[in-house]
Amino acid sequence: MEIDLGQGRSTDQVRPHNLSMVLRYLHLAGPLSRAALTQRTELSRSTVATLVAELTERGLVVEGPPRSPSGPGRPSPEVRLADDGPVVLAVEVGVDSLAVAIVGLGGDVRSQVRVDRERSPVAAREVVAEVHRIGGPLLDAQPAPLVAIGVSIVGVVRRTDGLVRIAPNLGWRDEPLGELVAEAFGADVPVLVGNDADLGALAEHQRGAGVGLDDFVFLCGEVGVGGGVIMDGRPLRGADGYSGEVGHVAVNPDGRPCRCGSRGCLETEVGEPALLRAAGVDPTRGGREAVDEVLHAAARGDERAVRALREIGGWLGIGVAGIVNIFNPRRVVLGGYFADIFRYVDDQIGGALNSRALPATGASVEVVASRLGAQALLLGAAELAFAPLLADPTLFPGVPTETRRAG
Ligand SMILES: [Zn+2]
Repeated sequence: MEIDLGQGRSTDQVRPHNLSMVLRYLHLAGPLSRAALTQRTELSRSTVATLVAELTERGLVVEGPPRSPSGPGRPSPEVRLADDGPVVLAVEVGVDSLAVAIVGLGGDVRSQVRVDRERSPVAAREVVAEVHRIGGPLLDAQPAPLVAIGVSIVGVVRRTDGLVRIAPNLGWRDEPLGELVAEAFGADVPVLVGNDADLGALAEHQRGAGVGLDDFVFLCGEVGVGGGVIMDGRPLRGADGYSGEVGHVAVNPDGRPCRCGSRGCLETEVGEPALLRAAGVDPTRGGREAVDEVLHAAARGDERAVRALREIGGWLGIGVAGIVNIFNPRRVVLGGYFADIFRYVDDQIGGALNSRALPATGASVEVVASRLGAQALLLGAAELAFAPLLADPTLFPGVPTETRRAG
């Protein structure tokens, strides 16, 4: 986590900065004693006490006796996130599913609904209406204050206003998704939209297989293939914020046409339909069940299934080796259905790294399966939505003291 001490800032900036630092530690590490917060923030004990008091006043944290004894002497009070603190609505728009969740600080998923969707082009308005149909009741059923809506979308997004430039697998071009969601929920809270793999990378960085790493790539396989890159501890954006579209790097000149207009993209060679096709399963059936079928068949020793996984593993290895050469990550985290097939393709990816990656980059990289699994994108959407509040906790006005007492 990148934190500086606020040197060179004016007093007006230092206080929100320090509040942010304390809240962020609790958000990422869970409950901490006041002594531990003092140690981690390198602020004075009295400053930490003042900051905790302000965060408490704002309804973001609570302080109480430690849950477990911490040794001799007077125990330091434990600070934790308030149960009735702010929440966000996290939305995941996939090619064949929609998911909506209410998430509190600390990545605390309070409620969640996931529904399957037919795998065909669909109007953005229709998708948003469905999101509202399943998300509305979740919001109505929870009493905590909503501070933002975060949306993960399987497409290329302009972060400033949530315009989806292109989502080939939904058939979208220049759809104002952020505006449509805001309109549907009538929300007077910000709506933030991000690319699914970028958000998966964010979530894995904060809570999953990328914790503590400054340089890693999240490679997500679904119908499409997306990549999210964290370099020097920060998301890699590119000139327009569209970087990391590794799914559309051409790997096979003789490959199938891709929905992006090109041919033989990594996506067409290793996306879920490619596995199903190779295994002799109708690729339009799609979904995790169909993938599971192939995996069960492979586990039984079914030759066609084993061959299909080997074929996918070969192309995936080529893709991973290219990614490793370009970005020199410490780790490549495989998400989506890649996490499910990982143990079948692990050796082939290793082989491709040996034969195709530069010795300098290939030797220092580790390829692992996602730790957050199917939750990565929703948790990433929640992180995106919480980002403004975490950067400046004074944005949260808190619950009036009288109401808190009365409640
Ligand atoms: Zn493509």
